Amino acid sequence: RYYLSQIETHNAKLHAFLEVYDTEALYKAALVDQKIQSGTAGELAGLVIGIKDLLCYEDHHSYAGSKILQSFKSTFSATAIQRLIDQDAIVIGRQNCDEFGMGSTNENSAFGPALNFKNTAHVAGGSSGGSAVAVQANMCHVSLGTDTGGSIRMPAAFCGVSGLKPTYGRVSRWGLIAYASSFDSIGPMARHVEDLALVLSHISGADGQDSTVVSSNEFLAKKPIQGNRIAYIKEMAEHPSLQADIKKAFFEKLELLKSKGYQVNAVDFPYVDALLPTYYVLTTAEASSNLSRFDGVKFGHRTKVASKDLVDMYKKTRDEAFGEEVKRRIMLGTFVLSADYYDAYYTKAQKVRRLIKDFTQGLLQDHDFLVSPTTSSTAYRLGEKTMDPLQMYLGDLFTVQANVAGLPAISIPMGEDSQSLPMGFQIMADVFQEEAMLELATELV
Ligand code: GLN
Repeated sequence: RYYLSQIETHNAKLHAFLEVYDTEALYKAALVDQKIQSGTAGELAGLVIGIKDLLCYEDHHSYAGSKILQSFKSTFSATAIQRLIDQDAIVIGRQNCDEFGMGSTNENSAFGPALNFKNTAHVAGGSSGGSAVAVQANMCHVSLGTDTGGSIRMPAAFCGVSGLKPTYGRVSRWGLIAYASSFDSIGPMARHVEDLALVLSHISGADGQDSTVVSSNEFLAKKPIQGNRIAYIKEMAEHPSLQADIKKAFFEKLELLKSKGYQVNAVDFPYVDALLPTYYVLTTAEASSNLSRFDGVKFGHRTKVASKDLVDMYKKTRDEAFGEEVKRRIMLGTFVLSADYYDAYYTKAQKVRRLIKDFTQGLLQDHDFLVSPTTSSTAYRLGEKTMDPLQMYLGDLFTVQANVAGLPAISIPMGEDSQSLPMGFQIMADVFQEEAMLELATELV
């Protein structure tokens, strides 16, 4: 009732939820209450969660922030959602996001952007913007977001909350509407790091529906770490795009770490300039393939305009219902996969991806964690970046490395800048080192 009243008070303005399951949530809460009375409740009894509109929930709508999926209802639930429900968590509603997760500000949602609760003239970040604002404004306890190139961590940083992107292969992607399958991951967002840990422990592990999830034995085989050696990438900490307040707060955090006895070293990373091109070549390639299924036949929207033939119907449907950014990425992805350019762009980017992954994991042999600011600036003003897609992409510079390399990363609050906008501190670790990463995070918030 508390969260519903918060939604009632704030959602019309903030637009964090696209749909609220009020009657249903109250009904489930009453059932959970009975289970609590009878001592049969699950471990998450009463935990109120919101879910990003990119996740499937049985018998509920999922629009992926897109007109093309308007009216789509899923016949099954994402594994991550189902596992939380099995422990008696209550789903309160569906949260706003950039169309198919493509964006950094939530302004690519076909249903209008979520706004930052700290200052509504500023964006929430994206693509899990609604999920971040919902936690920021206390409209739910935990949100489930998705992160392909920073979509959990960036809005978490912009809104002053915490968000975790797990190791690729830790959480099943079953029921996550695909953007770029070799990058996509589902993860929690919350005000408290402990809640991220709790939710992560429940959503992790193989389920037979996603062959890229490793078995639990492999989880246990993780290498022991010392836990006190921290590196930061010089080229990032000195990057010209980095806002002065963020740089200052970041170096203060490094001092804090040193005072706690951590060894902090500056390291070189020769591929900083290759991060965004690699990410955008590969994710648009995967997206152009994944999004081919939205054709007006299988799901959601179909054009009402008379078509000459089947191909004409596909074209009209996709032209009407995909937003501008999604179209841009489908075209870019189709181009880099085309016969004449495949080797020059796609194959090349795959090779660079391997270099980035190997080099990053090399750094994580000598160090336990890699830290950086989560974003180079605080939340943009609404509309500030929408005219220039390349400027928008540059904002993902610090977050994409974890996805390119498949590593876990977390964003935690790092105070506020001179305009009282939140800043974020990012910790990245080697594969399956979430536990150590979360432990460090709890020391720093
Ligand atoms: N901003 C990035 C993009 O637009 C990240 C998106 C994401 O993580 N889903 O691709």
